[in-house]
Amino acid sequence: MNTSLIINLTYIFSAFLFILGLKKLGSPATARKGNLLSSVGMLTAILVTLISKDIVSFKWIMLGMGLGTIIGIAGARLISMTSMPEMVAVLNGFGGIASLFVGWAAYLGNPQLNTFSATTIIISILIGGITFTGSFIAWAKLKEVMTGKPIMFPGQQVVNSLIILGVIAASVLFIRDPNAGLHFLWIVIGVSFLLGVMVVIPIGGADMPVVISLLNSYSGIAACAAGFVMQNNLLIVAGSLVGASGIILTNIMCKAMNRSLSNVLFSGFGSGSSAGSEIEGEAKPINVEDTFMILEAASTVCVVPGYGMAVAQAQHTVRELAEQLEENGCEVKFAIHPVAGRMPGHMNVLLAEANVPYEQLFEMDDVNPIMESVDVCMVIGANDVVNPAAREDEKSPIYGMPVINVDKAQTVIVLKRSLGTGFAGIQNPLFFKDNTRMLLGDAKGSVQGLVAEFKN
Ligand code: NDP
Repeated sequence: MNTSLIINLTYIFSAFLFILGLKKLGSPATARKGNLLSSVGMLTAILVTLISKDIVSFKWIMLGMGLGTIIGIAGARLISMTSMPEMVAVLNGFGGIASLFVGWAAYLGNPQLNTFSATTIIISILIGGITFTGSFIAWAKLKEVMTGKPIMFPGQQVVNSLIILGVIAASVLFIRDPNAGLHFLWIVIGVSFLLGVMVVIPIGGADMPVVISLLNSYSGIAACAAGFVMQNNLLIVAGSLVGASGIILTNIMCKAMNRSLSNVLFSGFGSGSSAGSEIEGEAKPINVEDTFMILEAASTVCVVPGYGMAVAQAQHTVRELAEQLEENGCEVKFAIHPVAGRMPGHMNVLLAEANVPYEQLFEMDDVNPIMESVDVCMVIGANDVVNPAAREDEKSPIYGMPVINVDKAQTVIVLKRSLGTGFAGIQNPLFFKDNTRMLLGDAKGSVQGLVAEFKN
């Protein structure tokens, strides 16, 4: 067998592991295995590529891999679950800049390019640059280093259109004569950075997870273009997989919010122009002891977790409470909204980490039809994803978004610290409904109090 056949067969094996890994990520029960399989695929691909290429010196590669491993381990261990979206944004940004460097280095190594190679270099640089700065703006908005409100100014569309025309013109001029086109390449690099900033600043902080998923897809497309630049089949396959899965995820998130991608990108959601109708009524507080009485008498309890559970790190205590309830003869279900928290699957990951059995996890569509038969719905740090205004108030900015209909349960107990708004910044009429009781305080403290009552 010749070397190139062995390399290509190994690449096919790696691609197979990537696809199998992606498939296994579809269920919490198999997700860890999926992650491991994909990592093995990537390691195999890197090793085979390194062995097969005429590499001048392994010194820098080993140094890079060593540093990357240390940063990766430190990041995975030190970054809290609530900061995962920020971390994903930063990683996407680095993916983008890596593709930009590949394109740039390929050009510097050989400026005598044909049209196809020049085009792939431009695509890899342009998308890589947009992904880099766009991801860091998304990071800054999520981290609240800069305002989460959409930044808009008069004539923004015109400025953006001029930038896009400029980058198209510079790209065409570069592709026509790459040999003499270094200054056009500089323009494309500079403008791609600017474009990344300009496309993300008008988007509200609440939509950043969708933007990150979209930028993730861009980083895949940039990597795919870098694969063409380097004529590496596996990089083309891996980039396409990231590009396609990022778009699919973006689409799932938009659907879960009942919004189109163009509405997310161009509507300036979160600018505070509409907060929905005035809410009437009074919220009714409840304490831990009275909540315990209600839970003790319940035969079905549905727990609806949200971002606040992640902030409070209450997942382990919530699992303990669920166990106490089951010991008391109660049936416990966890209802998960697809965009609860700050990234898709956020709640699944937290509950899996706390060893909540997978059989107890239910999707929104499975739990909504049976909500009226639920004795007690415990909303733990969720707000927007249980807001009935999405169903009832046509003036609400989230009108039409599918929500978990917790207000249809016999009794609703909401655990949060105040009557404050959630990520979308809008009031929640749930807190003022007749069957709702507010257990105010840090979610972990409140749930610990309930567990202690059951133990007593
Ligand atoms: P929200 O952000 O709507 O609400 C979280 C609530 O948690 C807040 O109202 C806050 O109230 C409460 N909270 C915060 N800290 C604590 C604490 N320590 N103890 C108790 N409560 C706490 O979260 P949801 O999960 O309901 O909704 C997710 C939002 O993110 C939606 O708007 C969704 O569209 C958006 N989004 C999510 C994406 C995803 O992929 N998951 C993607 C795109 C957008 P208080 O301060 O009073 O305690």
